[in-house]
Amino acid sequence: MVVIVAGVIAAIVASAYLVGNQLGTDTAQLRAASSAAPSAAPATGTPRKVAAAARPPAAPPPQLGVQPVSGPGRPPLPLEHGGPFGSRRTTGTPQVALTFDDGPDPAQTPQALALLRQYGVKATFCLVGINVKAFPGLVRQIARDGHTFCNHSWRHDIRLGARPKAAIRADLLRTNEAIRAAVPGARVSYYRQPGGAWTAPVVAVAREIGMTSLHWTVDPQDWRRPSAGSIASTVNSSTTSGAIILLHDAGGDRRSTIAALRSILPNLGRRFQLGALPPGIDPPRMHGHEWPLKVGQT
Ligand SMILES: [Zn+2]
Repeated sequence: MVVIVAGVIAAIVASAYLVGNQLGTDTAQLRAASSAAPSAAPATGTPRKVAAAARPPAAPPPQLGVQPVSGPGRPPLPLEHGGPFGSRRTTGTPQVALTFDDGPDPAQTPQALALLRQYGVKATFCLVGINVKAFPGLVRQIARDGHTFCNHSWRHDIRLGARPKAAIRADLLRTNEAIRAAVPGARVSYYRQPGGAWTAPVVAVAREIGMTSLHWTVDPQDWRRPSAGSIASTVNSSTTSGAIILLHDAGGDRRSTIAALRSILPNLGRRFQLGALPPGIDPPRMHGHEWPLKVGQT
């Protein structure tokens, strides 16, 4: 009897303790909620940290590497404003892009093309209009090999960006027309300002025509004719994922650049995916809105 009574008393005490404990927990939660609530109200200004901690974790940063780069019909590259006046400084993906400026050149462009073919690498050629007109066969060879085109102005005009917009537009269209006279239907989706002398108007006109302004990430200054070893060492040591590499296959003696390719192509080929910047799929944009493809881009 005593045992039974003692057991009943113990059960009552235990349940009272549990109820009390539960009430206590609820009360504590209510207190926490009531103290957090005012901090979420905008009237007092900056929310307190306790409210921020209650929010779901922030979304992970966007991952590079999910978007393919090369080939017509692929989605456009993501927006990137790393270069001067909103020009593109990287590929926007892990892919590394080799670019060759100032050609085509009858002696040196075929050598660059042969090495690119040997290593199975596609690149982008920034062509000068007068050279396109003089050597249309080389322009066709560039296209046949699967490389892509970039406009480098009609006569390598370093001051083009300072000219009136109508003059800039005429120069860029003339160069694109020359490329398309050599390769009917060719897409010229990029413009690179000679000397890197970008201005807001030249970037704007390129965009209106449908070309993305193409700056660069890695510049070994091969036009200053450093040794092949120096060019290769700069490129091989400075290149990171997404880099656009500036080289020249014309505009002077480029033997050092050609020789450096024998090191650059296998070195980067082991470490990165190398590819041409994609043709004709990066529509002009203004204030975040995509514009339709324009005459001159096709
Ligand atoms: Zn140039």
